[in-house]
Amino acid sequence: MTLSGHCLCGRCRFEIDLPPRWTGHCHCESCRRATSSMMTTFVGMPDGQWRWTGETPATYESTPGVVTRHFCPTCGAQMGFQSTRWPGEMHLYPALLEDPSQVEIKGVFHAEERLPWPFEPDQP
Ligand SMILES: [Zn+2]
Ligand SMILES: [Zn+2]
Repeated sequence: MTLSGHCLCGRCRFEIDLPPRWTGHCHCESCRRATSSMMTTFVGMPDGQWRWTGETPATYESTPGVVTRHFCPTCGAQMGFQSTRWPGEMHLYPALLEDPSQVEIKGVFHAEERLPWPFEPDQP
């Protein structure tokens, strides 16, 4: 099964062929700063099981020579994460899928860096 996704403006697009190698939420500070959010969520896709289908994203090396983050040069949405620690693999953001509910999220990474904010705060 193939799922497709896109950035906020729609110029950058991708497809993934299920199943992912792994899935999970990441609470690390780098992902928090890259996405301006308390956490982010990844699907780990082996090369050959994902592809860019729109404009090719721009890149930023958040750890030079190790980590490359891909993002839409127009709207700034994060599109992908690659690291020499996980060769042959792209980490994509299932929140960008047309139907995110098609992916089951199983893991949690860097839980020790998780912010103490509740997911569902009490309403005032
Ligand atoms: Zn965009
Ligand atoms: Zn992270």
